[in-house]
Amino acid sequence: MKRVYNFSPGPAILPESVLQQAQKELLDFQGTGMSVMEMSHRSECYIAIAEKARDNLRKVLSVPDNYHILFLHGGATAQFSMIPLNCLGTKTTTDYLHTGMWSGKAIEEARRYCNVNVAMSCEDSQFMTIPSQSTWSLDPDAAYVHYTPNETIGGLEFLTMPDFGDVPVVADMSSTILSRPIDVSRFALIYAGAQKNLGPSGITIVIIRDDFVKEPLPATPGLFRYRDQIAQDSMYNTPPTFAWYLVGLVLEWIETTGGLTAMEAKNKRKAAKLYKAIDESHLYRNRVDPHYRSWMNIPFQLADPKLDALFLKQAEALGLSNLKGHRSVGGMRASIYNAMPEEGVDALVTFMKSFEKEQA
Ligand code: PMP
Repeated sequence: MKRVYNFSPGPAILPESVLQQAQKELLDFQGTGMSVMEMSHRSECYIAIAEKARDNLRKVLSVPDNYHILFLHGGATAQFSMIPLNCLGTKTTTDYLHTGMWSGKAIEEARRYCNVNVAMSCEDSQFMTIPSQSTWSLDPDAAYVHYTPNETIGGLEFLTMPDFGDVPVVADMSSTILSRPIDVSRFALIYAGAQKNLGPSGITIVIIRDDFVKEPLPATPGLFRYRDQIAQDSMYNTPPTFAWYLVGLVLEWIETTGGLTAMEAKNKRKAAKLYKAIDESHLYRNRVDPHYRSWMNIPFQLADPKLDALFLKQAEALGLSNLKGHRSVGGMRASIYNAMPEEGVDALVTFMKSFEKEQA
């Protein structure tokens, strides 16, 4: 068996030790004689697995006690609707920052339920930089302000959190959660699809401050009501049980590898190495403003796009997989989430240098 360095944007690489543990426990979970996949979500054994994962997330991310942690279906995309359905309260207007493809989708969905004020858009720069906050039109009376700290496709990231004043802040952290410590108390709601830094696809984490859970809009389906999901510990219906268990294993892996501080140092080093290799070369280019370059998703273009196919073929042959960029951006994209070992980035940099030499 040979495992590759998988640079996929998601579903993405998982820590090898997590996969091994899941394999070891697959047929007989801790003497129960069955797989976690075969357990009732109401069983004592499964509830212990679910609660442990939730408690570990609270610990690893330092989530304060006045926040609920939910494990839901529907991906981050379901949250694009659930947030306006549940968090408008008596208000009708919301603020959204438009920083790329994913915030664009969140805006599109929110427009079904409320007035969306696009308080800032990076469209003028083709999403390569973020305009100065003095030009934003934040509404101090908005129900909330929604932003996407890391745009997975464009590779544009807020490296520091903007100051949103007293308006509750909602963040789509799908491709950045757990990459470094954050101050959860600055957010009213954080959500993330799991399939990048948390585990496999099929499960989404929502961290919501208790006062931000409002009366849902009347037509909100039961499954989509935060209030009811909170009351039922995310078991309003059958949750994605195996995915939830795997998220628990990933959290244990983060803890045993030094927690988020160690993760941050490693991620910073990995990103710096790759950007350095890109910036020092004549063949590769990343167009994102260096002040807003993502640590997790690094798009880069080759000076001659006719070389793309050869680059990808040679990379694949070396076990450097899934480097093809998103169709809207073209070129390459290396997603280097928590589980990407530093050696994976080193191998990519070595290959990029030798490929460039060959073309010179
Ligand atoms: N937001 C961001 C930032 C994403 O990267 C993605 C998926 N790549 C989504 C939302 C959508 O997630 P899902 O497919 O889980 O609905």
